[in-house]
Amino acid sequence: MNIKVICPVCDADILLNNDTKVSEVIKCTECGTELVVDKIDGTDTLLSIAPEVEEDWGE
Ligand SMILES: [Zn+2]
Repeated sequence: MNIKVICPVCDADILLNNDTKVSEVIKCTECGTELVVDKIDGTDTLLSIAPEVEEDWGE
């Protein structure tokens, strides 16, 4: 069973895997915006837009 959330940017339905964790960053499949998982609580799951980060992951 997946957790269904709504993209705060484009209102698309996004399905999160059950093992998704709070503060995990996911990407909206519709608009490509990176979203942070704020809260996971069944139907009360919240996403927020990820802060822009410098691409500085050592690659
Ligand atoms: Zn979106």
